[in-house]
Amino acid sequence: MGVNDLFRAIKRFLRKGEFDCDDVAEHSSDYIDNELKADKRSAFQAHLSKCGPCQAFVGTLSSTIGSLGKLPGIIAPSALKQSLLDRMHREN
Ligand SMILES: [Zn+2]
Repeated sequence: MGVNDLFRAIKRFLRKGEFDCDDVAEHSSDYIDNELKADKRSAFQAHLSKCGPCQAFVGTLSSTIGSLGKLPGIIAPSALKQSLLDRMHREN
């Protein structure tokens, strides 16, 4: 276990199980494969609900893998694309 892993473990502990962007990246394939336990899954989804870049990341990854239709609670690609466009327009 490296220093960075330790640091992240401490951060995770302080956040009481909430996911950050690194955690999402780390667990995204398990999420898409439906292999996350319920508590991690809800932490994952909680982060997704408030983090546009992670929604885009997971959306892209899952549509790449082609299993999006099987996922409960994830935004459909067209809706995701629209929300990203809206977001971009708002920020300009
Ligand atoms: Zn994020």
